[in-house]
Amino acid sequence: MELSNKTIIVTGASSGIGAAAAALFAAEGANVVLGARRASELETLVARIGQSGGRAVCLPGDVRDKGYAGALVDLALKEFGGLDGAFNNAGIVGELRPVAEMTFEAWNEVISVNLTSAFLAAKAQIPMMKQRGGSIVFTSSFVGFSNGGMPGMGAYAASKAGMVGLMQSLASDHAAEGIRVNAVLPGGTITPAGGEGNPSVLEFIANLHPMKRMAAADEIAQAALFLLSDRSSFMTGSPMLVDGGISVRLA
Ligand code: NAD
Repeated sequence: MELSNKTIIVTGASSGIGAAAAALFAAEGANVVLGARRASELETLVARIGQSGGRAVCLPGDVRDKGYAGALVDLALKEFGGLDGAFNNAGIVGELRPVAEMTFEAWNEVISVNLTSAFLAAKAQIPMMKQRGGSIVFTSSFVGFSNGGMPGMGAYAASKAGMVGLMQSLASDHAAEGIRVNAVLPGGTITPAGGEGNPSVLEFIANLHPMKRMAAADEIAQAALFLLSDRSSFMTGSPMLVDGGISVRLA
């Protein structure tokens, strides 16, 4: 059990990587506090985790709302008495189009859901973790490191690269307080946002990877588990690529 007695917030837990992570963390002994917009998906997952002997609660909400990250922290305190980790994973790809054709609104939506939400999450979680230390993990993307041949990714790439900068600043500011902050940078992953159900998109993305396949959501969840667990105790400020080699494709 890698996460025994740890209480961990997971956002974007209603599907894809977040749902896989929530189930994995609970199976590894964590109390999980689940966030995303869709209540019914979250409640189904909470029930499934409970049936497997795990402990989970949820609070539906939008990561763009200023109070939502704090409400998840409050729920962790109320239900489980503290907070040890957070997997700030909710995100969207947004409109895929060249920047010159992108509307201001489309740009802002991606930046607020992906990057401003990371700021809001850290702002709510850090004060709580000052008491007994903790580990924060953000879901960035290989696109925030090296475009890898993906078209129309201006806003998404900026949001995910910005998240790495934010993560490294947080890591530097809070290392001495026992708070570690890292990011996982997934390659193409089979999820609703990753083209699930669309064979031609899946094939295009798979072929960009040297491994000639996409990740399963659980393969990304395993990396987040490592960063949240004490096995990564000397890691902070690390943008951890879990990308099937896509970022070295042209190297
Ligand atoms: P997904 O669409 O299955 O899951 C996204 C989750 O984020 C859902 O639970 C959704 O409800 C939640 N979410 C989206 N907007 C939200 C909002 N405003 N408020 C609250 N919750 C919100 O997609 P996924 O692929 O599992 O994505 C998870 C993360 O992984 C995202 O940050 C995404 O950018 C990142 N990522 C995905 C891939 C991929 O190929 N699938 C690759 C690299 C990075």
